[in-house]
Amino acid sequence: MAGRRDYYEILGVSRDADEREIKRAFRALARELHPDVSEHPDAEERFREAAEAYEVLSKPETRELYDRFGHDGLRTGGFRPTDFDFTSLADIFSAFFGEDLFGAAAGRPTRGRDILVETSIDLAEAAEGVTRPVTFSATVTCSTCDGDGAEPGTETETCEQCGGTGRLQSVSNTVFGQFVRTQACGRCGGSGRTIPHPCKTCRGSGRVREERTVEVEIPPGIHDGQRIRLAGEGDAASAGGRAGDLYVHVGVRPDHRFVRDGNDIVSTLDLTMTQAALGARIAVPTLDGETELDVAAGTQPGEVVRLRGKGMPVLQGFGRGDHRIVVNVLVPRHLTDEQRAALEEFDRGATDETYRADEGFLSRLRAAFR
Ligand SMILES: [Zn+2]
Ligand SMILES: [Zn+2]
Repeated sequence: MAGRRDYYEILGVSRDADEREIKRAFRALARELHPDVSEHPDAEERFREAAEAYEVLSKPETRELYDRFGHDGLRTGGFRPTDFDFTSLADIFSAFFGEDLFGAAAGRPTRGRDILVETSIDLAEAAEGVTRPVTFSATVTCSTCDGDGAEPGTETETCEQCGGTGRLQSVSNTVFGQFVRTQACGRCGGSGRTIPHPCKTCRGSGRVREERTVEVEIPPGIHDGQRIRLAGEGDAASAGGRAGDLYVHVGVRPDHRFVRDGNDIVSTLDLTMTQAALGARIAVPTLDGETELDVAAGTQPGEVVRLRGKGMPVLQGFGRGDHRIVVNVLVPRHLTDEQRAALEEFDRGATDETYRADEGFLSRLRAAFR
């Protein structure tokens, strides 16, 4: 049988690998090649190959035959690999590996669930950073029984069904031979203990649901939709396990005065035609409150006034972005006769020099979004 791959090579183990190494290697391969999860196009064929290698190397008599005489030795020795039906693969896996192939192992403590809560803050709060209480419902360790589930003054007992191991074994026959399958004990739920007098507060579960409030520190500069993780503030786990995490989704409410552009703040400023032409001192809102802005004479629509370091703080960094103020010039629409006459009088005296611009409107607008 030329071209047949070496069984040790298929499993990726050395020739003197012991039974446990062989089983571990096959198990790892089987996980990788499981048709439900594998993206290998030839997963089924490779699984079949690995299963055959495992079938031979896991039994001392076929392994010895193979070691001495190779593939030919097996064939003349009458060995035929089991031809199994792939539709029953899931059953084979659960028989071979127990129930824990892709999930939690029986009887092992599980981690508590993560919890997601939402909160929203104003843009100004996002700029300053803020501490915000968030309230949510979480599973916590029962304080009446300290989590063991027994009424105070009574004791838990060793489970008679599993002898305190939390696991029960059953034997199944599979294509790989007989396998011992381990499951969580149904009587004690895998804890190994039974509770003759369950705690009245938690009915023996050792855990209760509770409204909890946690103060969340929201750092300056946070962006809309970012999450803050508080490790271990999620649901309590069953005995021995680690608590889940709390995730706080932070929404930043828009501010009608400002638009946020990364770490910069952009706002607009309406100037009257005469303020723009003559210059003016005007109060403008910033994240730090109102500030007086000196508008130069001859300020053009679309011009940008940049307030350095008045934007949003850099999240977990140093400094702040800028506040860019984009100027809009209001053109009067409802003139009295006197105003009209005055403007016409002004226009008669105007020359090209009156309107000479140093740069165009578009380049100023572009500067606003740099
Ligand atoms: Zn309790
Ligand atoms: Zn038990």
